[in-house]
Amino acid sequence: MEQFNFITNLLGIKDQNITILDILDAGTHKEIIAKLDYPAPKCPHCQGQMAKYDFQKESKIPYLECAGYKTLIRLKKRHFRCKVCRKVAVAETSLVKKNHQIATIVKQKIAQKLIEKVPMTAIAESLDVSTSTVIRKLKEFKFKTDLNCLPEYMSWDVETVREVTVSIGRLEMSFIAQDLDSRKIIAILDGRTQATIRNHFLRYSRQVRNQVKVITMDMFSPYYDIARKLFPNAKIVLDRFHIVQHLSRAMNRLRIQIMNPFDRKSHEYKALKRYWKLIQQDSRKLSHKRFYCPTFRMHLTNREILEKLLSYSQELREHYEIYQLLLFHFQEKQTDHFFDLIEGTISCVTPIFLTVFKTFLKDKDKILNALELLYSNAKLEATNNLIKVIKRNAFGFRNFDNFKTRILIALNIKKERTDLILSRL
Ligand SMILES: [Zn+2]
Repeated sequence: MEQFNFITNLLGIKDQNITILDILDAGTHKEIIAKLDYPAPKCPHCQGQMAKYDFQKESKIPYLECAGYKTLIRLKKRHFRCKVCRKVAVAETSLVKKNHQIATIVKQKIAQKLIEKVPMTAIAESLDVSTSTVIRKLKEFKFKTDLNCLPEYMSWDVETVREVTVSIGRLEMSFIAQDLDSRKIIAILDGRTQATIRNHFLRYSRQVRNQVKVITMDMFSPYYDIARKLFPNAKIVLDRFHIVQHLSRAMNRLRIQIMNPFDRKSHEYKALKRYWKLIQQDSRKLSHKRFYCPTFRMHLTNREILEKLLSYSQELREHYEIYQLLLFHFQEKQTDHFFDLIEGTISCVTPIFLTVFKTFLKDKDKILNALELLYSNAKLEATNNLIKVIKRNAFGFRNFDNFKTRILIALNIKKERTDLILSRL
């Protein structure tokens, strides 16, 4: 019997009323035979004294894997019968909550894995539970909005969430507000209309809203006005990340436009398609390392490949040079040079660049703010990447709330708080 006590400890079974009777090797899995018994308590119905009765038919409780084997606990629970009202009650245990089928420890493990950003399907598979069990656990995470404070530095972004409705994929937009310093999510809103955003932030008092000093957002944003009205003390700043993104997207679209008329089997087409990254990236970071390049069937450096790509089109070369210079001025915070170059070339650039340039000029003040503001873009990019990972892993997200909870878990629960949270769930 002593040995079985060690086993209950090893399995993390804390209920002293559970006694292990035997352990069976069922080939593919292990089975633990156990019973739950304790002195008869008072009747839950009439408070009369109960007496021990027979045992309930054993219930099968899937448990955490042991030494690599799936493990099943076959638990026989004691029945008690009231001497007064004759009603029967079943013994209770912390191993599995009343009317639940999944062991408490398995649920804690699900919660822990959710915090560790494991995909939901992988959690279900590794713990041998259904995806709906994982989703049920996900829904138990509750996040309260603290209406008494808002961060000084906030970022606003819009994120696409693909909703899987039966088999038809539907694209939904959601609005995300984040604390730029701590990366904590302030709000994830289902929908991105101005009314949705206004109604959300109007829940905060004016005094609290006045605390916000900076709001960063993307260009072309329909939110400038609403941000100004809701947050009168906040400076509106464009994300540096997004400014660069608009430039590089324009460059990429131009490359495709130039590539497409070439024959698909041609050298030019293949090279422009394959080495797109060399055009996009900062020319200062191109390596001098020589390597074998199958498209040209020779050893070339990245610079040499780039030179070949640019030789295919004068238009590509000219725009590449403007693009690289703009990137350079932007990174070096040479705002005068940045805008001089835009103004000086706007009359001769291709329509793809023209659209971006016009917006840059229109939002000049906010771009200047972006260059003056000191914050790490890395943080913002890290969050964007994290959201992408969650979305990629999110095949099980059939609704917005699950997606939202997953992001909140990932960003708002710090690792060191995990144990605390787990004990509360
Ligand atoms: Zn009774």
